[in-house]
Amino acid sequence: MDHNKLAELLFPHIDKTPADYEAIYPARDLPDGAMVTRLGPSPTGFIHLGNLYGAFVDERLAHQSGGTFYLRIEDTDDKRYVEGAVETIITSLEFFDIKFDEGALLNGEKGNYGPYYQSERGEIYRCFAKELVKKGLAYPCFLTEDELADIRAQQEAAKETTGIYGKYAEKSRGLSYEEIEANIAAGKPYVVRLKSSGDHDKPAEEIRHIQVDDAIRGTLSMPENDQDIVILKANGIPTYHFAHVIDDHFMRTTHVIRGEEWLMSLPIHVELFEKLGFDMPVYCHTAQLLKLDNGNKRKLSKRKDPELSLDYYRQEGYHPQAVKEYLLTILNSNFEEWRIANPEAPIDEFRFTTEKMSSGGALFDLDKLNDISKDVLVKIPANELYDFLLGWAEEFKPEVAPLLKADRSYVEKILDLGRTGNKPRKDLICARQIFEFISYFFDDYFVIEDTIPEEVSDEDAAEILTRYLDSYDHSDDQSAWFDKIRAIASDMGYAAKPKDYKKNPDQYKGHVGHVSTVIRIAVMGRSQSPDVWEIQQILGEERTRDRIKTLIV
Ligand code: GLU
Repeated sequence: MDHNKLAELLFPHIDKTPADYEAIYPARDLPDGAMVTRLGPSPTGFIHLGNLYGAFVDERLAHQSGGTFYLRIEDTDDKRYVEGAVETIITSLEFFDIKFDEGALLNGEKGNYGPYYQSERGEIYRCFAKELVKKGLAYPCFLTEDELADIRAQQEAAKETTGIYGKYAEKSRGLSYEEIEANIAAGKPYVVRLKSSGDHDKPAEEIRHIQVDDAIRGTLSMPENDQDIVILKANGIPTYHFAHVIDDHFMRTTHVIRGEEWLMSLPIHVELFEKLGFDMPVYCHTAQLLKLDNGNKRKLSKRKDPELSLDYYRQEGYHPQAVKEYLLTILNSNFEEWRIANPEAPIDEFRFTTEKMSSGGALFDLDKLNDISKDVLVKIPANELYDFLLGWAEEFKPEVAPLLKADRSYVEKILDLGRTGNKPRKDLICARQIFEFISYFFDDYFVIEDTIPEEVSDEDAAEILTRYLDSYDHSDDQSAWFDKIRAIASDMGYAAKPKDYKKNPDQYKGHVGHVSTVIRIAVMGRSQSPDVWEIQQILGEERTRDRIKTLIV
């Protein structure tokens, strides 16, 4: 077989050579040790926590080392293309402060290693497919869907490995130039397959093992590939395997961070790199994200777990810093220790390493995220928190945005409630919850949610509030204010101190706590809240009095 002739028959229009592409995409001019990483999402429109998790690793490795992080759109499968998906990817990641240096942009692209859309790189892939055919390392295969299905059924019945290898590849490998030419002339569709040098029929002990140093998993040893995998589909579009190898070589990627679901096909990639004569990048296969469900670990599912979608965090109004901080705790086992030692340090000062990544499943836990979020938010000054809350409201709860805008300093005071001093309250988690938490400060959202304690009768409640209103002086300091409540309590037969009531419950109707709960409910509608005196100071005299009056019936 004259392989050059075959290559010309299959790819008559390809005139560039591998050397041309080496010249078009030269080695990058970067400092020693700089890493080049990429995110290669398919534009399916669904961007999930796994993407963020991977992107975060990419971003940290590139930017910590003075390297480059780029976005490549893996859109070779048009069935999965969703309009606006690229925008979703870029804006969703930007929200978490993950920015690309190069690659696909909101409009167009940037960088010297493009095109960054695989759908526009057809010529490059075909050039290398042609090159492999020329060297006798790839061949056209005309097996029809039916023939492939028959082979598969036969293999399944015989409990053999499925795929095209060994004797199953013989028919297509053995076609003569004339047969191929006749098939093409007859318009028969064909794929291009790699002619694997692995031998499926070798005894197990003689099978060559490939060794790959994975930056997360250490040295991996796996049997070499022996499948004649498809490199170009019948429509001329490359498979993931082929496209990734060519792209990562010519985009000069140094580190490929991808999910562990790709580990299985690593031997294919090793063979492709070898046959194409390219150096391999460093692979980093990340662990899957798992969650605990009734005590069992399972993969996060698109259907069952809304928290898998990145939109969830934006809609709930999680602060990006909290999500990042949380992701680092699951990504790097030494992060929490570092955080304890450096409570105030910006997150970017943490030195992220692949060695500290776990290769087992990474457990994702919303409760833990919420705890971290509380710690993160308590450190964010009220004026910044205000901007964040308003930004969220404008997008996800527009009806409350005017309320927040009406009086900035009022809202800032509310947000700061109980957060100063050396034992700050940590009750703020995410924007949606923050708004619910503070909603009683806005008359439109003020509702009486709780009921008065059972120790207090309705008549007593009305009397407590009447007396409270009569004695109310907005300029009282906290202790003068509370003394008045104590006085009301003892006048009406409630213990001025809870412990007196506990000692002699028969002598009292209840204690001062029950009395102040009545006031709390009148002012805030809730029996649990930060300090009532401070809340009244923020609400102002008029609003405070109005709320109390409303409840006296
Ligand atoms: N397009 C592939 C995916 O979405 C990318 C895998 C890779 O990063 O190599 O899974």
